[in-house]
Amino acid sequence: MDAAEFRRRGKEMVDYVADYLENIEKRLVYPDVEPGYLRSLIPTEAPLEPESYEDVIKDVERVIMPGITHWHSPYFFAYFSAASSYPAMLADMLCGALGCIGFSWAASPACTELETVMLDWLGKMLQLPECFIAGTHGSGGGVIQGTASEATLMSLLAARCKAIRRVQATNSNYSESDVLGKLVAYTSEQAHSSVERAALIGGVMMKQVPADNSYAVRVDMLKKMMEEDKAAGLIPFYFCATLGTTPSCAFDRIVELGPLCNEENIWMHIDAAYAGSAFICPEFRPLLNGVEFADSFNFNPHKWLLVNFDCSAMWVKKRTDIIGAFKMEPLYLKHENQESGLITDYRHWQIPLGRRFRSLKLWFVFRLYGLQGLQAHIRKQVALAKVFESLVRADKRFEICAEVIMGLVCFRLKGSNELNQNLLKRITDSREIHLVPCQLSGRFVLRFAICARTTESSHIQQAWRHITQLTFELLQEPSH
Ligand code: PLP
Repeated sequence: MDAAEFRRRGKEMVDYVADYLENIEKRLVYPDVEPGYLRSLIPTEAPLEPESYEDVIKDVERVIMPGITHWHSPYFFAYFSAASSYPAMLADMLCGALGCIGFSWAASPACTELETVMLDWLGKMLQLPECFIAGTHGSGGGVIQGTASEATLMSLLAARCKAIRRVQATNSNYSESDVLGKLVAYTSEQAHSSVERAALIGGVMMKQVPADNSYAVRVDMLKKMMEEDKAAGLIPFYFCATLGTTPSCAFDRIVELGPLCNEENIWMHIDAAYAGSAFICPEFRPLLNGVEFADSFNFNPHKWLLVNFDCSAMWVKKRTDIIGAFKMEPLYLKHENQESGLITDYRHWQIPLGRRFRSLKLWFVFRLYGLQGLQAHIRKQVALAKVFESLVRADKRFEICAEVIMGLVCFRLKGSNELNQNLLKRITDSREIHLVPCQLSGRFVLRFAICARTTESSHIQQAWRHITQLTFELLQEPSH
């Protein structure tokens, strides 16, 4: 393909994408395929001779689309939202074209510098404390990770390294493995599985702190566990708080938990993967109070801030904590400016070496929506969740299972877990709307998350009609 053909095909692709998104709600949101469906639709070997572009693009509808779950359909209510906007898609296209791998400042100065400034812009939108803002001389700063899971892992590994050095500084006879065997990390029993996984990867013990009846961790629970562990000779070193838990969007009480972590020299990381975007709205910002006690904070603009996957924003209070933990300096990655102190080499802030120019997506989205446009998006989705909540509350057969604070509604039919499992099965099998479940206090609960940018009140009403129709059919069955 030469530049002339690329121009033509590129324009066609933009039309294809715009048509897909404009008409997405006509497609069944959940695919009707069996595992292994795709293999039989394409050859077993890659082609020897080049094929025509027409043949490739035809196969997108034949091979790919039947197996797509349409995350951007206004009838998609599963998991948490995956952000999508046209400005972000255009920026991603430019990122692909530049194709630079910005592991160091010298590897593409704009890639590094725009990222640092965008994370400052975003940090200011969230009113993060000054210590997290890089500026020109700050000791903190932000980085774009691929996912919240990576951010959690990075924070845990940095905390582990810091704790080992601290303990060895006062007990020189302790080997690294002596300390490792005593380290203990904590997180909520409601935390995302990626937190427990970070501890598995990091080779440290992690304990789950019981949550209160609003599914949040409170300080007394963490304190009690830590005291017992210290008495048993263990060394508490890390706590991962969640703001906006995956099952029910609960908020750990970081205003109480933060001071305890600071007193005990425990790294506090905050995982606000979904809910973090909402803190750009002054009315939601109080939920972030206490971030000043955190060592690191992360959320995913790729969930709720109209920036397409992947873009997970992470800030650290002391950049030396994270850089110092993983620094490797082979000759081929050195450059003459690195000692100047003015620049960042992001390869030290992450697990992989290579990195895409993801801050372009933030830059385009921030400029084309403005803070007000982004706030309007968040507020609209929270209002839609309230619409759904009131529909559920008005139907005496159903109950709401957790406070609705953001764009997630947890609800269930009053009755057994089996009844609710059956309802979800009918919903999934119908493929018209898509939800996933969670477990709260041992009960099977349906999660209804407002996801697509284009979801309107009419879609919520239609989804509710669909759910109540399936409920009616379910309750008609003799077994119920
Ligand atoms: N943390 C929380 C609270 C989440 O809700 C999720 C995903 O929904 C994650 C972490 C994982 O996010 P990622 O896919 O960016 O690793």
